[in-house]
Order: sequence, then C-alpha cells, then structure tokens
Amino acid sequence: MVVGDIATGTDVVVIGGGPAGYTAAIRAAQFDLDVTLAETNALGGTCLNHGCIPSKALVTGANTAHEAATAEELGIHADPSVDLGEMVAWKDDVVDQLTGGVEKLCKANGVNLLEGRAEFADENTVRVIHDGEGQGSESVEFQDAIIATGSRPIEIPGFAFDGDRILSSRHALALESIPESLLVVGAGYIGMELSTVFAKLGTDVTVVEMLDDVLPTYESDVSSVVKERAQQLGIDFQFGESAQDWEEMDGGITVHTETEEGEIDEYGAEKVLVAVGRTPITDTLNLDAIDLDTDDRGFIPTDDRTRTTLDHVYAVGDVAGDPMLAHKGMKEGEVAAEVIAGEPAALDYQAIPAAVFTDPEIGTVGLTETEAKEEGFEPVVGQMPMRASGRALTLEETDGFVRVVADEPSGFLLGAQVVAPEASELIGELGLAIEMGATLEDVGATIHTHPTLSEAVMEAAENATGKAIHTLNR
Ligand SMILES: Cc1cc2nc3c(=O)[nH]c(=O)nc-3n(C[C@H](O)[C@H](O)[C@H](O)COP(=O)(O)OP(=O)(O)OC[C@H]3O[C@@H](n4cnc5c(N)ncnc54)[C@H](O)[C@@H]3O)c2cc1C
Repeated sequence: MVVGDIATGTDVVVIGGGPAGYTAAIRAAQFDLDVTLAETNALGGTCLNHGCIPSKALVTGANTAHEAATAEELGIHADPSVDLGEMVAWKDDVVDQLTGGVEKLCKANGVNLLEGRAEFADENTVRVIHDGEGQGSESVEFQDAIIATGSRPIEIPGFAFDGDRILSSRHALALESIPESLLVVGAGYIGMELSTVFAKLGTDVTVVEMLDDVLPTYESDVSSVVKERAQQLGIDFQFGESAQDWEEMDGGITVHTETEEGEIDEYGAEKVLVAVGRTPITDTLNLDAIDLDTDDRGFIPTDDRTRTTLDHVYAVGDVAGDPMLAHKGMKEGEVAAEVIAGEPAALDYQAIPAAVFTDPEIGTVGLTETEAKEEGFEPVVGQMPMRASGRALTLEETDGFVRVVADEPSGFLLGAQVVAPEASELIGELGLAIEMGATLEDVGATIHTHPTLSEAVMEAAENATGKAIHTLNR
C-alpha cells in the first residue's frame, strides 16, 4: 500500500467496465458477492462509447439519408441534406442513455463503482489510481479478480493517430462534418462498416487493403456481395497494397502505399482512417506483480471457465482473445461470475454469431461447409437467394442469400451464413436453432410469418432436404 491509500476489501474486483466487465460485476453481485468495479474511462467501454452502439447509430443515419436520396423508383423524390454534427449529437444521446443505464444497473445490483485505473499491487491487491493531480489512489484487497480491460485500435508505423488527419474508428465516429474524401486502411469489418457509412453520406472513399479481398475472414461468395454493393456506392478498392507514410499536400494529405510488386502508389485524401485491427490492453495492469503471462499476441490465455493460469484471476472479453465481440465478452463475464460463485458454468463456443453492418448486412454462426468437412461431418447445404424473397423485393434489397449447413446423416444444423438485409437479426434464429440442436426438418417445419425475410431461413432448410417450394432444389 502506498502512503495515503485508503484500503478496502472486496470479494471480487472487476477491472474494466465494458460489456464483459459490467456483465461480470452485475452477475457476481446477483450471487450476493461483494463486488468492486474499477473503470478508468466511461462505463460501457468501447462497445457503448466508441464501438458497437455509436457505429450502428451512424449506420442508421447514413442508411436513412441514402434511402431517402435513392427512392425515386418508389415515387419518392427527396434531396436530403445531412448535418453530421446533429447526427453525432443524436448518437451521443443514445450512448448517454445506455451508459447511464449501465451505471444505474450496477448500483441497483449493489456493485461498488470506482473511477480510476486499476493495477495489480500483489496477488490479492489492486491499486486504483484516480485521475488528476492530488486525487490519490486506493487499494482494494480481493479474493478473486476478473480482468476485462478490452482492446485498443492498432496503430501502423508512420500513421500515429492525431484525431485530425489520421483517425482511429473512435475519431471517425465523432467527426462533426462530412469529409470530402477519406482513405480507409483495412477492409475488415470496422473498415467496411465505416467506409459504407461515409460513402452513403457523400464522402469519396478509397479503401487500401494489403490482402486481395474485403472481409478476408468470410467466404468469398459472402464478401463479394458486400464488395459489389460497396463498389456501386462508389467505394474504390486498392488491394494488395500496404500504407507506408503520408505527407500534407494541397490542403489535404497524400498517402504513399507499396504494392505487392514493390511499386509505390499515392492517393490524396482529406483524412485517413486506419482500421487494421485491435490489440488487447494489458499494459495498464502491472501484470508482473502477479506473474501472469500473456500470449505472443498479448492476449491473456484462459480455459473454458475463463480462468487464467492463476486460480483466482479470470479474464473475459477482448483481452481474453478472439472473437473480439461484445456478446462473446458478455457471456464470458457471466461465466466468470458464476464460476467464482461456485456454479458449474463453462463456455460453449459452438454458436457465437457475428454480424457485419455493411450493405447488405452479414450474419454468420457456427461452421461453414468447409469447416464442417474439416471437422469430420458430412455436410449438406441449403440456400435461398434473397431475390426469391417477396419481402426482400418490397424492401428493394434483393442481393444476398441465406445458407444453412447441416450434418446430412443426422440433419443437425451446424452453421449458417446470411448476407441479406437484417442479416444481423436473422442470424439470431439460426444461432438458437443450433444451440437447441434443431435439425433441418425442425427449421423447415417451423411456420414463418409471410411476407418476412425470415421465411428465407425456412426455405434454405427445405432446399437442403430437396423440399423447397420457392426455389429450385439442388
Ligand atoms: C468501431 C467498432 C465497432 C464495433 N462493432 C461491434 C459490433 O457491432 N458488435 C460487436 O459484438 N462488437 C463490436 N465491436 C467490438 C466491441 O466493441 C468489443 O468486442 C467490446 O467492447 C469488448 O468488450 P470488453 O468489455 O472486453 O472491452 P471494452 O469494451 O474495450 O472495455 C474495457 C474497459 O476497460 C477499461 N480499462 C482498461 N484498462 C483499465 C484499467 N487498468 N483499469 C480500469 N479500467 C481499465 C477501458 O477504459 C474500457 O472501458 C466494435 C468495436 C469497434 C471499435
């Protein structure tokens, strides 16, 4: 303890108040454990403040403007003007409602909230250092600790974030005016979501990607639907090029890239968004004090009960590894709290859904056909193109498909890939089906409301068994 410290004791200390941390804290408090949650910034973490929620708010704003501007065929003639400052203020209001809600829920469940950066002092003590001169620190003695410190955007050499010319996703979500041109480095899901937002708001967007396709973790027939629509929106892709450096020029900036052949290209833009991935935050924790190692990518290794190599220290959310998604972190938070409370909880990762809020959206869960084969299944697939969906036609959104992957001998659903409007919602039904051990027959026999996009799920299941009515069976 340092001089001036106030020392308190707690059953469980949670470090980080993002979705993984606040979920862990609330669940642990529900078991009548004494819980202290330390957060250095705002409750809600990246997800609520600079990630999932703000980005989806701007996706809604950009979609609304774009739909209004492109609805001539429907007899709607509008020329919307967008005030990004007002849109961002609305987005901030949405964020405030949610972060305020998290604070109320923590307090109502009896979680003690501490503002400040927590670091380990020894195996049973964290020190919480309060911001600002003379604010001091306090020591918290704990029985169990849950590390939920999340992740931060990766910087690339030569492109230090300055919030003015060189932006991280966090900066891009707070812009007050629409840039005329934007160069996006990285065509992963954050790069693609934000490229789509700005292209729909009227920005001239160029995406530079080192690999040779967008969304490289997805199957090519999934990502190609999104790429083609992005190109229709005017987004220009430069594949096989890596960003090298930049310089101020003519009131904007020029970015130099290197091609696979070693040639140098250059692109002018008003701003650059670097979206090349995220790295776990462990450097704020003084992990040496508890002798806890990270892996070669900086993540804290955990078992299926979220335990680290130390019996009484748990790690959840982004800091515990892929997939770096809010809902995966929340589930891990629940499991950590339940394990600490002596419950027989463990993680079951067979059906973690993922969504990309591009145009159209992508939703995936479970195994692809290739992965199913690799795991020794005999997969059968069924597919329903959105152009055969009555509801998709009435939405004027007919690109994409719903695909289900099942084990042919047993009929059990193993995975699904959806690229369609509202794919982020449709994938929930398929995740539930996998979790419940549903078969193709179960999904095909489930009566779906007409006309809805979810009918495509039923049709894809029937297509896999040769019973589809609205598409030709395979
Ligand atoms: C632009 C963008 C869009 C995204 N969209 C989605 C999406 O649509 N869906 C989805 O599932 N995921 C999305 N994500 C990812 C999602 O935000 C993260 O997976 C999620 O926030 C991880 O939760 P976490 O609790 O592990 O970490 P975080 O949310 O990062 O929270 C960690 C918290 O710990 C605090 N902290 C760090 N060190 C300390 C310390 N020493 N002491 C005290 N506090 C500390 C940090 O201030 C932070 O508040 C998006 C991310 C970005 C950037």
